[in-house]
Amino acid sequence: MSNTKKQIRQSILFVSAVCVILVIVCICGFLRISNDQRKQLEEHLEDTSELYSNTIQRQVVGDMEILQGMAALLGEQANIDKSILLDILEQENNQNRFMRMGFIDMLGNAFLVDINGERYENINISHEYHVQEVLKGNAVLSDSLQDRYTDKTIVVYAVPIFSDGKQIGALCAVNSTDVFSSIIEQPAMQESYANIIKQNGDIVIHTTKINNSSLTSVYDISFDREDDKDLLKTNLAENKAGSFHFTNVEGAPCLAHYTSLDINDWVIVSIIPESILDSTLTPFRKIAFFFMASIVIIMLLLIVFVTHIIMRSHEALEHLVYFDSLTGIYTKTKFSIMANRLLNHDQGYALIKLDIADFKVINQLFGFPSGDALLVYIAAVLKEHIHEHELYYRSDGDCFGALLHESDPEALKERIQHIMDHIATYELHPQQHYHIISNCGVRFIEEEKNLDTIMDHAAIALKEAKEKAETHIVFYGNELSERLQQIKQIENRMYSAIEEKEFEVYLQPKYSFSTGTIIGAEALVRWNIDGHIIPPDIFIPIFEKNGFITRLDMYVFDAVCGFLHKWDALGYPKISVNVNQTRLLFYRDNYIHNLKSILAKHQISAKRFILEITESIVVENLEVIAEMTKQLHDLGFRISMDDFGSGYSSLNILQSLDFDELKMDRVFLSDRGSNVQKQKEIIKTVVKLAKALSITTVAEGVETKEQVNFLTSIGCDIAQGYYYAKPMQEPEFEKLLEKTK
Ligand code: C2E
Ligand code: CA
Ligand code: CA
Repeated sequence: MSNTKKQIRQSILFVSAVCVILVIVCICGFLRISNDQRKQLEEHLEDTSELYSNTIQRQVVGDMEILQGMAALLGEQANIDKSILLDILEQENNQNRFMRMGFIDMLGNAFLVDINGERYENINISHEYHVQEVLKGNAVLSDSLQDRYTDKTIVVYAVPIFSDGKQIGALCAVNSTDVFSSIIEQPAMQESYANIIKQNGDIVIHTTKINNSSLTSVYDISFDREDDKDLLKTNLAENKAGSFHFTNVEGAPCLAHYTSLDINDWVIVSIIPESILDSTLTPFRKIAFFFMASIVIIMLLLIVFVTHIIMRSHEALEHLVYFDSLTGIYTKTKFSIMANRLLNHDQGYALIKLDIADFKVINQLFGFPSGDALLVYIAAVLKEHIHEHELYYRSDGDCFGALLHESDPEALKERIQHIMDHIATYELHPQQHYHIISNCGVRFIEEEKNLDTIMDHAAIALKEAKEKAETHIVFYGNELSERLQQIKQIENRMYSAIEEKEFEVYLQPKYSFSTGTIIGAEALVRWNIDGHIIPPDIFIPIFEKNGFITRLDMYVFDAVCGFLHKWDALGYPKISVNVNQTRLLFYRDNYIHNLKSILAKHQISAKRFILEITESIVVENLEVIAEMTKQLHDLGFRISMDDFGSGYSSLNILQSLDFDELKMDRVFLSDRGSNVQKQKEIIKTVVKLAKALSITTVAEGVETKEQVNFLTSIGCDIAQGYYYAKPMQEPEFEKLLEKTK
């Protein structure tokens, strides 16, 4: 699940990242466009300032030129009467339409005439700055002033009048600032307007657009950035152009551009509300917004879609991993998860592992669909027998498992037996009866809490149950674990044991019943670990399982060859020796080759050997044995059937296979209770039959005088048993041989 979450998180992260990148690209694009637009606007506004400035300059220069022209004329009539002068000015002004015109004498007394004919005479205005300036001989334009006769704001143009090179006064003209206002209110560009300010920031001419007439300085407006204000100050002082952002009295953000007017210290400030940018930017903004919204929506849909797909595939995968496709019950994976939860909360559980004996055979005999049906049936049986807070699962093939809440071994055994009995009632075929046997390994869950280890232990117990004929339910316990440990130790040591020559070959003599003399011996292996002799019963079954026995048998064969070679050299009777051969050798390609090369190495004839194979192998695979015995016979070996009578012996075997010797098992000879007489008859018959087939009979495990008498009486050929001698080491056996010399 965490994996899926991670997957989903990753895809969401990826999609979100793509989304964010696209949105950022969108925003950047938009910002770029709006920046470009803003720059363009600034450039336009700069042009606008230029335009305003040119218009105003033209106006001022024009007015000045008119005045200067008139001043030149008046200079020629220096002594003209003041009232006549005003008549002339009034008349002239009809063409010029100044608000007022007038003459200022050198004392600063003004004689003025309004455009409507009103006259003001001999008014001393010598204190006015522009008057002082013009009387010094300079043409001037005043700042905006409050008109003393009307409520208008005015500007005064004044030029000196010279007569014969000497200033005799000044000519002045008054104009309402409305003349400039009308210019700067004329929108040069959309909603633009302008103000005229002085270098110190004082506003010279307002537009009526700014109703806030209380605003007397440009520094009173609210600048968006304090830096702009500072820059404005320095730029004004240095007569430089620039721009700034501010918020007007209506709260609208505006862009302003200022540049010198070249009239007095006037500066034109062109203003445009930034809102006009909106009109150009709105379509872009809409497109950008549309894009971003689309991207986000598409991405969201993508996330939903991807999450859905991942969840779906996860569910499908989870089902595959967690539920067995055939039976629909938990898989081992799911079982483990659930089992761990249960085990964390409660105690007194046992884990069982169950499988069917020879399930492969069932599949072969009845077909796979029948095998599958059986598995489905077992799942149903488990379901029926499982209580609350218990679990069950199927892993591969016919392997089932369950977690049972049972701590009493007897009760648990009973429950398992019920399950097994229930499974056994299944009919694989309506006509053919097949008894279904199941095996079960059990592991109580006590201190060990690691489920994997517990499962391993249950599996070991199950394996044991399969191998043991006497019981089908095996509990994993100390005994089993000790044995397993022993097996491990043996397996760890077996290779080095060969190198270290720890395996010793003992010899048990074979005696002729008729003569009582040694006629041969059986080689029997022992494992001498530091003087501690381990009997073959302990390690041979383990080697049979892991295949090491083939190596050991060849080792024994080689050792016996060595003995024979030595005995021959010492001139002892040329006896033959029985060596045990595991059935596994018969399936090895190089078996015959190995035998031959060992014989060749010691220069010993195959005739000196009687190879013992156990009865069980014969039952197992008659064809292979027949073929192999033929090859061995061809080489000169004799073959002995070992352990006859210990298993499912059949007299038929004697007939169908070519044996030279028959070794009757110790168990076969032993007193088996009630029917002693019957037993004796069987042995008698076997010996007789063997004799008829020219097979030598050997009685193994002869321990009593009584047995010797009986076996001699029925004509048994050879004896091997403690009555005569136990298996012994080679030097001891050599002494026996010495005696027979
Ligand atoms: P086996 O081949 O049937 O060997 C005879 C076993 O009976 C030997 O046990 C022997 O010591 C024992 N025996 C002989 N006479 C008497 C008697 O009078 N009374 C009793 N109680 N026992 C007697 P051992 O040596 O312990 O060998 C056990 C089994 O181990 C052998 O049974 C054989 O199957 C296997 N084995 C021993 N050596 C080898 C070997 O080199 N290769 C293979 N493949 N198996 C071997
Ligand atoms: Ca034997
Ligand atoms: Ca035997």
